[in-house]
Amino acid sequence: MTTDRRATLVILDGARADVFAHLVAAGDLPNISRYLLESGGMVPATTVFPSTTGVAYLPFLTGCYPGTCDVPGIRWMDVRGYTGEWWRDREHLRSYCGPQGGLINSDLRPGLVTLFDLVPESVSLCSPLTRGLPPERDRVQRARALWGALAHYVGTYGPLERAVGRALCRTTRERHRFVFAVFPGVDGVTHFWDPWHTLVLDMYRGFDRIIGDYAAAGGFDGDHLTLLVSDHGLTPVEHHTDVSLELEAMGMPALRYPAIWRRDPKVGVMVSGNGSVQLYLRPGTPRPRRFTIGEIEAGMVADIPRNLVRELAQLPGVALVVGNDGDAVRLVGREGRARLVDSGGGRIRYLPDTADLLGLGGPAEHDDREWLRRTMSSPYPDAPTQLLQLFRSPRAGDLVIIAEVGWDLRRDWEIPEHRSGHGSLTADHMRCLVASNRHLVGPVRTVDTFPLILGHLGVPIPEGIDGVLPVAPDVDPMQRTALAAQA
Ligand SMILES: [Zn+2]
Repeated sequence: MTTDRRATLVILDGARADVFAHLVAAGDLPNISRYLLESGGMVPATTVFPSTTGVAYLPFLTGCYPGTCDVPGIRWMDVRGYTGEWWRDREHLRSYCGPQGGLINSDLRPGLVTLFDLVPESVSLCSPLTRGLPPERDRVQRARALWGALAHYVGTYGPLERAVGRALCRTTRERHRFVFAVFPGVDGVTHFWDPWHTLVLDMYRGFDRIIGDYAAAGGFDGDHLTLLVSDHGLTPVEHHTDVSLELEAMGMPALRYPAIWRRDPKVGVMVSGNGSVQLYLRPGTPRPRRFTIGEIEAGMVADIPRNLVRELAQLPGVALVVGNDGDAVRLVGREGRARLVDSGGGRIRYLPDTADLLGLGGPAEHDDREWLRRTMSSPYPDAPTQLLQLFRSPRAGDLVIIAEVGWDLRRDWEIPEHRSGHGSLTADHMRCLVASNRHLVGPVRTVDTFPLILGHLGVPIPEGIDGVLPVAPDVDPMQRTALAAQA
């Protein structure tokens, strides 16, 4: 075991890779440039779907997708157990935005291990995810509760950022093996403005000053892998389509947060990041599995009109409606239909039946790493893998609705109104920041940072995770072999 090695992962929540690169090029992030990028760099990277805070932290701490973790969104319903008694059945109904927030730790699939489980000498700053962490190593929670709640409504993230910064500087004296730190300010302020707004850029610059203090305190000393990442991007929201209101107008009473006491709902509407929605048909009638698009369109789901999928796909601001059918994912858009089929052995086949909905040029079959490379510059980066992974979770919806660029899927109860948002599968939500003081080989997914950290610390990498090791080209061959063996 290499006990002198340390690792730190800092989430700059909602940081866009292009905004970050622009500020670096302008010389606005001098400390990050000097202490991180000079010896390492940035790599093209994607997050997970749904691209939403909290859910999109899971890959960093577990190496797994939300579907593998069985946490398919920031709100979900478990149709296997929900009988319609919203208070008595609250175990089967979830929103991490509010009093149920801490349940994300116990909702994770049993048997899953976190970095905190694997590296007991860890400390966490301002994180909603703390599974495996002793209470004394879970820091900046009081400031998070106090300042975080206020900032959510009025946008004043400075005090919370500085509190996390001070705690980060203090970790340098204690030399923990792994430090996980969350800076929520970029995401929080961007929701009030747009990703290029001067107040947003100031959050990046303020964070750079924190990195300067951290470096001065010895933060980068020693054999210390440091990763600076984001969990999603954001785009300006110009229009809102409230899926719940549209369903109500179609004659389907909708159960949704916070109005979950809706009498006799025909559909549950669970919004994630406001750029995607998962629909659960006939909530309150427990069943062992999801309904398929085929069953809905054959009129086999009582109380649900057979043209529902088509109607949803025609709504303004809806890019895709997606459902799961065995090993396949069916996509319905305004222009037609397509499928993704899990061919086994890690290979995925894309079949644009009547429309090339993912913009990939035609039918193709690749393994999932090749799909990542081929879709990085497409309208929906990493879509084949991301759509399939989501439905691994029995808690994922019967239908997933994905918003177009410029739109979100909520208007009622969006307090405060989001002027920028995320949660969708579109490029500027999926592409995220991965920078490091070591060379990495891109493109990477956020799940890949987990084995990277374990490899650096010399901790065996658990079997069955989704991430793979993005080994640096300058790693000497002996070390590369050792890292690969651990993966
Ligand atoms: Zn976020």
